[in-house]
Amino acid sequence: MGYYNPPKPAKYNFDPKSKEPYRMSRSGLELFVRCPRCFYLDKRLGIAPPPTPSFTLNSAVDTLLKKEFDIHRAKGETHPLLAKYSVNARPVTHEKLNEWREVFKGIKFLHKPTNIEFYGGIDDLWINDKDEFIVVDYKATSKEGKIDMEDQWKASYKRQLEIYQWLFRQNGFNVSKTGYFVYCNALKDRKAFDAKLEFDIELIPYNGDDKWIEPKLIEAHKCLKSDLIPDRNENCDYCKYRFQSQKIEIDKKDLETKLESDKKEPHLEGKLF
Ligand code: SF4
Repeated sequence: MGYYNPPKPAKYNFDPKSKEPYRMSRSGLELFVRCPRCFYLDKRLGIAPPPTPSFTLNSAVDTLLKKEFDIHRAKGETHPLLAKYSVNARPVTHEKLNEWREVFKGIKFLHKPTNIEFYGGIDDLWINDKDEFIVVDYKATSKEGKIDMEDQWKASYKRQLEIYQWLFRQNGFNVSKTGYFVYCNALKDRKAFDAKLEFDIELIPYNGDDKWIEPKLIEAHKCLKSDLIPDRNENCDYCKYRFQSQKIEIDKKDLETKLESDKKEPHLEGKLF
């Protein structure tokens, strides 16, 4: 049985006439960055891309890392990984931390020029010796060699970190421009599985630049207000597939309609007699 059931209820769609703030997650803005058309279909018309299966092994790593960092947070001490990388910081305690970590709540900010309530759920928050918040994101993968941060997925991870940094700044917090990825890399060179995965853990710093976020938010809002569906992304394989399959279906339907009307319409010779 299918689990994809578009369209979404209209209450989730952006309504250009509404005076209420429109709630949009950081993944909504990410969708706009990747393809304004997909963003418009989802947020304005309620046709979201089909969901992908959830990465439950990655979620398990996230959950356990949170527990592990929380142990050190409760003691007010740093984590051995930070000590190993000579990072002068520790997991921070804050009354709102649990809320900031919730996917559907997160850290939020009402952007008045667009009336968009923009939000995103963080993995972790540390504080350095200058009393600056450090935004942290956990990632899990399994690949040979060291992790590099240069492919297109990593560009999206960097934007994610920058959005969280921006949200904290908009909430009046002092935020370090350096955020961190706690990157867990599952090792495949063991003799056997033995019911356990072992990981190399790397701490990867990233200096965020959030200057692009507000202009992009304004652009996304302009897109939502428009009655025009943006062009498709010519490099997107899904839309090539969608476009070609739709074209064939329309051609086939036209042919069927023509054959059907030919059956109903008597031939010219028949009319004469
Ligand atoms: S090009 Fe089409 S399928 Fe691809 S992301 Fe955009 S709207 Fe979605």
